[in-house]
Amino acid sequence: MGPSSPRVAAGCEPLGSDENDAMTTDCELCAAERVTEWFYEDDECWIAECEACYVPMVVWKRHDPNPPEETRVVLLARLSEVVVLRYGFEYWLDDNMRSIPSHYHAHARPRGGFAGHGLRRDHIT
Ligand SMILES: [Zn+2]
Ligand SMILES: [Zn+2]
Repeated sequence: MGPSSPRVAAGCEPLGSDENDAMTTDCELCAAERVTEWFYEDDECWIAECEACYVPMVVWKRHDPNPPEETRVVLLARLSEVVVLRYGFEYWLDDNMRSIPSHYHAHARPRGGFAGHGLRRDHIT
């Protein structure tokens, strides 16, 4: 009869057993070091506007979620300075790292609402 197509397991190379992924450049924040315009930079951190939130954020220059407290204080202080100089809004410091939990960063979010809500309570009628 007709030729039966041979069922060879083509392309069955094992994938995903690569365990040393700690130093890959998959991290958005490590990658952003090269593409973002920075407001500020020093040996420990850089500060730029977050592309997702349109608010300033500070990013530690190490791929690590847990800076020592003394470093954390310095990073947040730097961020505060930039917000005061560049933006001048009232803010709160948000270092809850929801989207990139493996690399320390913090956002300065406008107090009284973000994403455009609540910044102005009055509207023209
Ligand atoms: Zn953001
Ligand atoms: Zn990183």
